[in-house]
Amino acid sequence: MAETKYETHEYDVIVIGAGGAGLRAAIEASARGVKTALVCKSLLGKAHTVMAEGGIAAALGNVYPEDNWQVHFRDTLRGGKMLNNWRMAQLHAQEAPARVLELEEWGALFDRTQDGRILQRDFGGHRYARLAHVGDRTGLEMIRTLQQHAVHKGIDVFMECTIIRLLLDGGRIAGAFGYWRESGRFVTFKAKAVVLATGGIGKIWKFTSNSWEYTGDGVTMALDAGADLIDMECYQFHPTGMVWPPSVRGILVTEGVRGDGGTLKNSFGERFMFKYIPEFFRAETAETEEEADRWYTDKKNNRRTPDLLPRDEVARAINSEVKMVRGSPHGGVFLDIASRRDADYIKRRLPSMYHQFKELADVDITKEPMEVGPTAHYMNGGVRVDADTAATAVPGLFAAGEIAGGLHGANRLGGNSLSDLVVFGRRAGLYAAEYAQNLKGTLTVDAGWVEALAQEALEPFQRTGGENPYAIHRDLQETMQSLVGIIRTEGELKKALEELATLKERARRVRVDGNRQYNPSWHLTLDLHSLLTVSEVVTLAALERKESRGGHTRDDYPKPDPEWGRVNIAVRRRHGDITLTPDPLPEMPDELKKLLEER
Ligand SMILES: Cc1cc2nc3c(=O)[nH]c(=O)nc-3n(C[C@H](O)[C@H](O)[C@H](O)COP(=O)(O)OP(=O)(O)OC[C@H]3O[C@@H](n4cnc5c(N)ncnc54)[C@H](O)[C@@H]3O)c2cc1C
Repeated sequence: MAETKYETHEYDVIVIGAGGAGLRAAIEASARGVKTALVCKSLLGKAHTVMAEGGIAAALGNVYPEDNWQVHFRDTLRGGKMLNNWRMAQLHAQEAPARVLELEEWGALFDRTQDGRILQRDFGGHRYARLAHVGDRTGLEMIRTLQQHAVHKGIDVFMECTIIRLLLDGGRIAGAFGYWRESGRFVTFKAKAVVLATGGIGKIWKFTSNSWEYTGDGVTMALDAGADLIDMECYQFHPTGMVWPPSVRGILVTEGVRGDGGTLKNSFGERFMFKYIPEFFRAETAETEEEADRWYTDKKNNRRTPDLLPRDEVARAINSEVKMVRGSPHGGVFLDIASRRDADYIKRRLPSMYHQFKELADVDITKEPMEVGPTAHYMNGGVRVDADTAATAVPGLFAAGEIAGGLHGANRLGGNSLSDLVVFGRRAGLYAAEYAQNLKGTLTVDAGWVEALAQEALEPFQRTGGENPYAIHRDLQETMQSLVGIIRTEGELKKALEELATLKERARRVRVDGNRQYNPSWHLTLDLHSLLTVSEVVTLAALERKESRGGHTRDDYPKPDPEWGRVNIAVRRRHGDITLTPDPLPEMPDELKKLLEER
């Protein structure tokens, strides 16, 4: 590689992102004997993974011995409305138990059954109680465990370092280019292989459970480098985010509340979820709630209570209740655990939820119901990867975790993300290391190109007049929230595209004051490229898919269409332009098809 004038580091593998997927990938690459670095935009330990609450899904069979990988596989595909990559779903279901036991071996302390095994809790769409957990702070324990393990492997960590571009040599990965958030100085990483583990895109919406980091950088870098994206229209809106007070709107209320007995009610105190299952007329005839729950559980034991239907279905039901003016005072519905569980149980099982509501909303959830409503939560789609190796279409580029598409199809089941991170994080690290070890020849990057990237990044300091990046981000979030939210129509999506074109124009005129040292306004200005790109991709894909499936609901095409159910919408950038194609799903082997026929 020709020298650039910027600080430069050289590795075999760099992993961008230090959440569960990135940490697991770095551990594996390093264990394979290659020189590995981990780069992250925030402080180590601050990734999204640390916020995960309810648990990690794995068919350990500790609570229900009849659970196994085949049932987990089936649940994942049914939850994903059959848009999933079958091979990813198979590997995920088969390998998740080993990855959970490995975490335990590395020091993770999960909650226990009476006889001392890992306890598992109920979550939506899982036939059996399957989520290993640590109260409602599972992500914290997972990050703590993986971090400690990574540190002892001697992996180099670059914190508060934002990557803005992947570097290529004749179409192959050659490294990455970014800047230190504190000093604003540029930094180049030379690498034979890169693993992208940068998480999701939630910050394009106004109400989201995601934190400031989730601006879609990795997805955009992959697209710009030549990788494909799939299923970007199927974004997941989690049914239960806080709705009040306004300053905390969107913060997640874990599905664990419903898994532990919480029920959803409208302003008439009615458990409305029974209306959104076909068997409503039967449940309605039950004398008591418990009887109705029991009846439902017996009849459809893969859905243990209608409050735990898959997330897309519950989010749409809440949306309808609010629309029919049966919502709570602040535009949500009620989530009530106080009338079914005693205070000790709630505080023990859901300590974070108890504190979250007490401190942020002055609500005691052991005595009163919570007000909740849908919140932008999880990117079901993402960068297309090879199921076994996590390789993208760009040689040397791998992706794992929330950034990677395929496993979850049109809708992810709760708990299936944390297991995704460790199953495919490990695979990405392994195959990135193997790729780096086998790479022949030397890699070169045009130093002039790097210089041009640096100058482009500094341009906003030179502009006079111009726009404020915060105003553009706010207007983008308003557009996406109102026109590309849970329920979509052709007219609104087209309007969104017009507004996005105007926002892109405005972004070209952004001016930044001050200097490069810890300048958040400059950081957001650089993030605008990703925010606007992923917004456009989601909107274009949503316009293309003319049906409703999982996280994608079209008011003008309200039903699933078998034809659309056979394709992923693939998004590519070619010669600067974004193109979309419906690509047929990979053919599933007969023995797996048979599993899906079983009840
Ligand atoms: C509140 C909440 C609760 C959840 N609960 C659960 C649960 O109980 N069970 C479950 O399965 N899932 C849950 N999820 C989902 C799950 O936590 C996430 O999908 C998962 O943690 C994503 O992990 P990841 O490793 O892909 O990325 P993340 O953990 O999101 O990490 C991304 C990393 O990329 C870095 N990064 C981003 N951009 C750049 C850049 N440009 N340059 C350098 N670094 C960059 C970040 O700094 C960070 O280190 C929850 C999510 C939320 C928000």
